[in-house]
Amino acid sequence: MRNRHWNSQLENLRIDGARLRESIEVSASIGVTKNGGIRRCATTDEDRRMRDVFAKWVKEIGCKLEIDEMGNMFAIRPGRDRTLGAIMAGSHLDTQKTGGRFDGILGVLGALEVMRSINDARIELERDFIVVNWTNEEGGCFAPACMGSGVWTGNITKEWAYERRNRDGKKVFGEELARIGYMGDFPCSYKEWNIEAAYELHIEQGPILWNLNKQIGVPKGILCLHWYDVYLEGTANQVGPTPMEGRNDALLAFSEMCQTVNKVAHQMGNIVATVGEIENYPNSRNIIPSKVHFTVDVRSWDDKHALRAWQLMKKEFEIVAERRGCRIQSEDFWKVEHAVFDRNLVDLVLKSAEELGINSHRMVSGAGHDMSEINKVTRGAMIFVPSIEGRSHVEAENTSWEDCARGVDVLLRCILRSSQQNR
Ligand SMILES: [Zn+2]
Repeated sequence: MRNRHWNSQLENLRIDGARLRESIEVSASIGVTKNGGIRRCATTDEDRRMRDVFAKWVKEIGCKLEIDEMGNMFAIRPGRDRTLGAIMAGSHLDTQKTGGRFDGILGVLGALEVMRSINDARIELERDFIVVNWTNEEGGCFAPACMGSGVWTGNITKEWAYERRNRDGKKVFGEELARIGYMGDFPCSYKEWNIEAAYELHIEQGPILWNLNKQIGVPKGILCLHWYDVYLEGTANQVGPTPMEGRNDALLAFSEMCQTVNKVAHQMGNIVATVGEIENYPNSRNIIPSKVHFTVDVRSWDDKHALRAWQLMKKEFEIVAERRGCRIQSEDFWKVEHAVFDRNLVDLVLKSAEELGINSHRMVSGAGHDMSEINKVTRGAMIFVPSIEGRSHVEAENTSWEDCARGVDVLLRCILRSSQQNR
């Protein structure tokens, strides 16, 4: 790892924890909820306001900002040798409908803090350094998640993404992106970029680091993520005059299927499976439910294992549907394969933490991230910091400022190390 581009100035450089906190607090004031979380779904006015602030900050440090057709924002700091591949770091500034202050935000504003610190020290890096804000990572209003990075890697098409509708079907993603003024004209494709390595700093969103009292999590990769939709159709009828026998109650069928999802996951092991969304029609207390739509989320380190689990669930769903006299239809909505991070970058994260005297822990990521996508087209790695009590995707989501700063210092070191390698 030693090379002629490493010196004591780089060795001793640290980020400014107070400035990092300030930036995160500005972000936390945009779309603030009454319990101190953030509501900032992609393409809303709050998203626009946060993007405007980020763009202003990028401009203040004299970086060029490129906005692509999916609204992904790239702040570019040129390196000494522009023929070398760039080092990228970032995450997302959008949140869930009742999200927290750190999920994604720490990754973007932490990377920005790294860029500010390198600027303040007047360091010329060998390689370009790019800070990125990916559009709609959460899928909070428009599914699927990781939309901006998904188009960037070619996992989904731009056209399909533009056509996505929100839950009530009234809003169209492409129109909303244009409405907030962030449909750029730079082509949305990794092929437009020469990226040598990519990092994503993120809160863990689980309890492992918190429980082990470790400061840095170093995932070897991310579980696969499979999303399914199931549609049930029974028969609506007045609840009073219709006897219990012979009903085709779609909600009752669903309730068994919901148990099935949980049961199969327990039986198979090494897998998590969840029903998270359900729509019941006509959703009236005196009508037998005639239609149900629900979602199934399946994740595992082993893609085939996840597929087998879904096959098993589907088989049982069909038996239940038959017995309950309901028609069933299921759709594969979205799939991201499990991501294995680059071993050298993972080692570099571990080494950087060690050199800074911060204790770390090897793990896997159960949550999907933009890095699930990015890692397909370049060398990638992630850095986790503890979530207090393991909570996230909720307003109470929290990480100590000290842990945030530690995570950004590790990110800084990884970026300096990667930038100065001219292999
Ligand atoms: Zn996130």
